[in-house]
Amino acid sequence: MFFFGIMGIGSGAKPAGEVMAVCPLCGSQARMNVARSYSYFHFFFIPLFKFGVQYFATCPGCASVFAIDKALGEEILRGNVSAVNAADLQLMKNNRDGLCPACGHRNPAGSTYCNRCGHGL
Ligand SMILES: [Zn+2]
Ligand SMILES: [Zn+2]
Repeated sequence: MFFFGIMGIGSGAKPAGEVMAVCPLCGSQARMNVARSYSYFHFFFIPLFKFGVQYFATCPGCASVFAIDKALGEEILRGNVSAVNAADLQLMKNNRDGLCPACGHRNPAGSTYCNRCGHGL
């Protein structure tokens, strides 16, 4: 197809900064990495405009991913915001299920006890 590779849509993600937050899932006060993801429309591989910009924070304790409001994300990107409330974190991906708090072993979701050390989940 003629237009193949000339025009198209791509996507990317870049680190936007870090914020202090209390993880709503695992309850740990943590410095979360914030990433900025976006899609872009390109023509001859030159990005013309970006759309669908979204901000995500990842909890270092349980690896769960939260969406952050775009306006707040922009402030984090500019370095104006260094901490967010649990209410600002909208759960996108729960990676805490099955993660053992004692040994860090990842068990199948829905497990009651850790397969490795027997700790209650
Ligand atoms: Zn967490
Ligand atoms: Zn364990």
